[in-house]
Amino acid sequence: MQNKWIVGVDLGGTTTKLAFISMVGEIVHKWEINTDNSNEGKNITINIAKSIDQKLDELDMNKQKLLGIGMGAPGPVNYTTGVILNTVNLGWQDNFPLRDLLGAETSLPVFIDNDANCAALGEMWKGAGNGAKDLVCVTLGTGIGGGVITNGEIVQGVNGAGGEIGHITAIPIGGAACNCGKTGCIETIASATGIVRLANAELIKEDTRGELKEIYTQLGVITAKNVIDCARKGDPLASEVMAKVSFYLGLVLAGIANTLNPEKVVLGGGVSRAGEILLNQVKEKFDHFAFSAVRKSTKIALATLGNDAGVIGAAWLVKSRLLKE
Ligand code: ZN
Repeated sequence: MQNKWIVGVDLGGTTTKLAFISMVGEIVHKWEINTDNSNEGKNITINIAKSIDQKLDELDMNKQKLLGIGMGAPGPVNYTTGVILNTVNLGWQDNFPLRDLLGAETSLPVFIDNDANCAALGEMWKGAGNGAKDLVCVTLGTGIGGGVITNGEIVQGVNGAGGEIGHITAIPIGGAACNCGKTGCIETIASATGIVRLANAELIKEDTRGELKEIYTQLGVITAKNVIDCARKGDPLASEVMAKVSFYLGLVLAGIANTLNPEKVVLGGGVSRAGEILLNQVKEKFDHFAFSAVRKSTKIALATLGNDAGVIGAAWLVKSRLLKE
């Protein structure tokens, strides 16, 4: 079994990342295909199956080389049945039987979990978690995803909705509207979308100045990367936004850590590329809000696998579940 490969799949709304991964979690080959969500998403699993066959052909390998397929999917997943409960951007009807369809099309065992959980498992296995069995992973992207691992296992909760860190309320009264239907979720502040929203609220004021304001005046729009880059150069308005983001993120992470006391809290996703400018301020606020025994033992770190975390964690699903049986 040691020389087998596992297929890791990270299913996204526009792109699907695939990889053949060794039993020790090294990526052997990786590639991407477009996600075709036309026709109620009927082609998605067919295209994945075809793409795996094509890649095996290219490498002059056959299916015996593959142990199984692990997949991270956007949206809530019933991980025992492999059913995607609902997802808006893939075209599927609610309660889509993803695992069984992909299994039928590939004749391989398939294991599925939510994409943020897969990213967390990837970081645990080969990334910043460095084998830590108690780990919280927060993906700061367009939204905020979360994965909570205790004793090596993802915390699923009674309905598969455990670890939805993005929807922890950070501002109880008067917060911005969130995609989930609530207001004031941490996702409305510390995601890329949240950062842009906070910056825009200042930039529309006439008396604001600085580099970020110049970009805004010239282009009419700014991105989270603009805010981060300007903050790094000391632009006061951008720095103020990043200080606010760090304050609320530090507050929320301290609450999570006070509950779980994980070995590490790992920050990943596009916003985490801000690096030290985010990490140092978040740590400072975390230290302020964390219980002393937690402050001394829980570390905050940046993710190290980047875009590969999802496929590596998806492969871990296969390895861990099949070895258990
Ligand atoms: Zn929300």
